[in-house]
Amino acid sequence: MSAPTTSTTSSHVSAPPADVLVVGAGLAAAQTVAALRAHGYDGVVRVLGAEDVPPYDRPPLSKHLLDRTEPAWLTDELGLDLHGLADEVRLGVAARALEVRPGRAGAVVRTDDGEVDASCVVLATGAHAVRVPAWPTALTLHTAADAERLRTALDHGPRRLVVVGAGWIGAEVAGVAAAAGHHVTVVEARDAPLVTGLGATVGALTVPWYAAAGVDLRLGATVTTVGPDGVRLADEAHLPADVVLVAVGARPATGWLAGAVPLVDGAVAVDEAYRVLGADGPLDGLLAVGDVARRRSARYGWVPGGHWDEALRGPDLLVRRLLGADDDGGELTPYVFSTQLGHDLAMFGLPGAGDVPTVLGDPEDGGWSVLWTRGTDGPVTAALAVDRPRDVGAARRLLAGPDLPRVPLDGATSLAALPRR
Ligand code: FAD
Repeated sequence: MSAPTTSTTSSHVSAPPADVLVVGAGLAAAQTVAALRAHGYDGVVRVLGAEDVPPYDRPPLSKHLLDRTEPAWLTDELGLDLHGLADEVRLGVAARALEVRPGRAGAVVRTDDGEVDASCVVLATGAHAVRVPAWPTALTLHTAADAERLRTALDHGPRRLVVVGAGWIGAEVAGVAAAAGHHVTVVEARDAPLVTGLGATVGALTVPWYAAAGVDLRLGATVTTVGPDGVRLADEAHLPADVVLVAVGARPATGWLAGAVPLVDGAVAVDEAYRVLGADGPLDGLLAVGDVARRRSARYGWVPGGHWDEALRGPDLLVRRLLGADDDGGELTPYVFSTQLGHDLAMFGLPGAGDVPTVLGDPEDGGWSVLWTRGTDGPVTAALAVDRPRDVGAARRLLAGPDLPRVPLDGATSLAALPRR
């Protein structure tokens, strides 16, 4: 897929589709169905979902792993009644293949027991946790069933838990498990936690949180094998464990698409209207939203999925642009939040690999924030607030506009106190 170019969206609006098939029954899927009805769509809406339970929220699976045994159903959390809104909801039924027919809108979606032909298909199959096939005894955490398995494994007294990966989910689980009295070791191959999300310099600022929470953090440590009695590292050290959680990231759930649409880094590439991009441009009647998608963005190039907020709010934009409803033409600002090891993080925007972080405040003395700029004096690409509620609103406002903002950084100590240039 070539470098992104943007286009206006309103000129592409055509007549509403006769019917819509939403594939996936998670947050993005449920929000798509709700948005269709909220914007007056009265055609047939069908939903296919691989999990055999109604839609639920994933962030509590890690943050409330041990104190919440029932999933946070979206019916309760967001008042979303999928069965009431859609004409047909089939849970426990996975889409196995997709066929785009030249010259016709939509696609045919195959399941184990037949096929569904729809004039509009919304791909909302989310992501799945990365598993390491050679480590079959290790657990992962992505679904409610995963959370149940992990909770059960940690039942009955202090356990030795080894978490492989100091990313968002590894850090969150390590914190709640240690707080509950388990003996937790986190093994991370890189030299800092959260390198993928925050980069090594900023990720390193979270290192002291581990010891303070009673977690043993091993950086620069590569796991070679996971067995029933623990984890072996590349330096031959053996970490005994009752439970091993592999938290090394998630990948878009696109295996079932198998060549039907082009993928970018394993994700479905979509334009500003969430239309799936084929080799020659948007495919008619095929859309994607949430973790499965990688969205073209005027400000950021490509925005990967993996953020709850994109799955929550992307569907409304998708449906507005599909149906030609009122729309300010803007795009969502990437937003990710986390509660880990006793700290609250909120990040807006998307730091690029070469962007320069500037820390505002003293990480050793209470809350702090970070601004990433392109070069030392370029526009701001992302803002992070750590344990600073007032900076969360400031970060949101800073990155809300259509252009990346410029701010004077000299002497700045917080996002809330920043003047705009
Ligand atoms: P999903 O929630 O993955 O839902 C996709 C659904 O599609 C699933 O039910 C799946 O079974 C189904 N499906 C998959 N393949 C098929 C198929 N072939 N046919 C039919 N159905 C299929 N984000 C944050 O910003 N902050 C957080 O603190 C945070 N915490 C998280 C904690 C955990 C433990 C996890 C796992 C994720 C967390 N996230 C967080 C990420 C956030 O939950 C996701 O971005 C969000 O759930 C994406 O929603 P989605 O609907 O796109 O995908």
